[in-house]
Amino acid sequence: MERILVSACLMGRKVRYDGAAKTSGDALLAAWWREGRLVPFCPEVEGGLPVPRPAAEIEGGAGGEAVLSGAARVLTAGGADVTEAFLAGARAALATARAHGVRVAILKEGSPSCGSLTVYDGAFGGRRVPGHGVTTALLELHGVAVFGEERVAEAAARLRALDDPESRS
Ligand code: SF4
Repeated sequence: MERILVSACLMGRKVRYDGAAKTSGDALLAAWWREGRLVPFCPEVEGGLPVPRPAAEIEGGAGGEAVLSGAARVLTAGGADVTEAFLAGARAALATARAHGVRVAILKEGSPSCGSLTVYDGAFGGRRVPGHGVTTALLELHGVAVFGEERVAEAAARLRALDDPESRS
C-alpha cells in the first residue's frame, strides 16, 4: 500500500503558527485516512518550533531551493532567523518519507515549509509569489512529488501512474 505524506494541519492537528488547524474536507483524503495510507507530519513542529509561533516567510520570496543552498533565510516578521529549524524540519520530513517509502505528498499550499506552487513574498503583506516551501523543495529534490490540498486529484493520478507504470505510456 503506497503511503502518502500529508501536512498535519490538513488532518486537523492544531500545529499552525497561530495554534489552529487547516482541516481539509477532501473526500479522497478522508478515504485514504480510513485506509491507513496517510502519514501526517508538521515540519515546523518537528524542526523544533513551538505552537503557537511567530509567522515566518522566506526572505525575498526566494523559495525553498534558495534556503537549501544558503542563498536565503527564513525570517519572522520581527527579524528572528528561524532558518535552521525550517531546515531541520525539512530533513525530518524527508527521513519520514523515506521510512514509509513515500513517493507522493500532499502539503498545505502557501506555507514557507509546505507550499508547492506558491509561498509568501517575505514582506508579511499577504502577497504570494510562485515558489516552493523549504520542505517541499527538499522532498522534490529527492523524488517525492508534492501537491497542494487543492490538487488531491492530481496526486491520485500520480499514485495511479506509479502503481501502473504502463498507464503512462
Ligand atoms: S509547517 Fe506545514 S504541516 Fe506544519 S502547520 Fe505549517 S503548513 Fe501545516
